[in-house]
Amino acid sequence: MQYIVLDMEWNQPWPGSPSSQKVLPVQIRGEIIQIGAVRVTEDQQVTDEFQVLIKPKYYRRLNRRVSKLTGIKEADLRDNGVPMAEAMARFRAWCGEDVTFLTWGFDDITILRENLRLYGLDESWVTRWYNAQMIFNAQTDGSTAQKALKTAMELFEIEATRPAHDALGDAYHTALICARLDLKKGTAEYGKALKDHDNGFHGAELPGCIARKVFYGYADKKEALGAMSGPENKCPTCGKQMTGTRWFAQPGHRYMDLASCSSCGKFLIRVRLSDQPDGTIRVSRLTYEATSEAAEAYARRAEKADPEVRRPSGAQRRRRRSKLPEKK
Ligand SMILES: [Zn+2]
Repeated sequence: MQYIVLDMEWNQPWPGSPSSQKVLPVQIRGEIIQIGAVRVTEDQQVTDEFQVLIKPKYYRRLNRRVSKLTGIKEADLRDNGVPMAEAMARFRAWCGEDVTFLTWGFDDITILRENLRLYGLDESWVTRWYNAQMIFNAQTDGSTAQKALKTAMELFEIEATRPAHDALGDAYHTALICARLDLKKGTAEYGKALKDHDNGFHGAELPGCIARKVFYGYADKKEALGAMSGPENKCPTCGKQMTGTRWFAQPGHRYMDLASCSSCGKFLIRVRLSDQPDGTIRVSRLTYEATSEAAEAYARRAEKADPEVRRPSGAQRRRRRSKLPEKK
């Protein structure tokens, strides 16, 4: 068995461009234009490397943001890119048999599979893969955030020797991180890490947590937080709707609010918002006792009082004020 650390760059049509209106036989999030990969042996030695540029077929105009980020020019793809089928044949031959893929994040494998399907190519060989971020988190600080590659490198004091946002450069740096993790243990315990992640509760919750629940299907942040401080703001003790105070933003699309039940008292609500593949928002919600450490964090934050999201009365005041000039 061997690990293949994979990173890719992909092109997306410019919003509103003719390409963006195209209906493809298989919906893709992006068309792969570059593959970079590094082999890590079972005993975690970083060995050989692979890279290929792919000539896009569906989104031929290179999105200028993608070009700026990756340094790839349309001419590079035209002159040096190979057709997808050939690139995949080369990549698969280089990978060899019995491979386990490691990626930094969840996107690469999904996009690889989508592209293989779009081109009608075999995808049966990319079934075993792990998001190295999950293993990294489980084996370092147990933190809940999906860390940028750069952040993880800093934590391991790995110096960047390759360009960032270059598929092979990113794959190489990811391989250096992976080589320092316990991959055997990480992949064996991956199911649990993934389950925690899926539930939206990465790692351990803070002490004093008394309830947790996941909500789906909100159109945007406003709607999600509105529901969390409105109809879904249920008292964990009696089930009555509670009143919120105000949401404070925290890193990682998290928000907290101090809610109170007219019969049972105060509770701290912490929510984390995450984008779903279908464009909706999922909310994971934790309820804490008001005496908990988490609630103290809220109190400290409230002192600083720099709310990203105002409570409804604040929003109404703001709206009324903003209407005044129109009346003259
Ligand atoms: Zn209550």
